[in-house]
Amino acid sequence: MHEMSIAMNIVDIACKEAEKEGAPSISIIELDVGKLAGVMIDSLKFCYDSVCKGTLAENSKLLINEIVGRGQCIKCGSEFDIDSFMAICPTCESYEVEITQGRELKLKAVTVNE
Ligand SMILES: [Zn+2]
Repeated sequence: MHEMSIAMNIVDIACKEAEKEGAPSISIIELDVGKLAGVMIDSLKFCYDSVCKGTLAENSKLLINEIVGRGQCIKCGSEFDIDSFMAICPTCESYEVEITQGRELKLKAVTVNE
């Protein structure tokens, strides 16, 4: 499952950070997830709990910042919110739209217990 490997990856990185700091455990893991990243957040949250078992992140909280999709028209340069990859410019109706935001999937912060 896609979300399972994402969860494993995130928890793995977070645990290494916590180890480096010599922290006994992790309290919060914060993620930036773009709406166009192709990640099902409910599924990710579900996987997260099982991935955390037996690691420094056990019983930690997963915070997800959802990032809206933004696109810019290559033809006329206008910027607008988008919710799919098949975006059309609302100004000139061009299909040549570059996605400028919304594909993020990154670990933003790890909060550890002292
Ligand atoms: Zn346009």
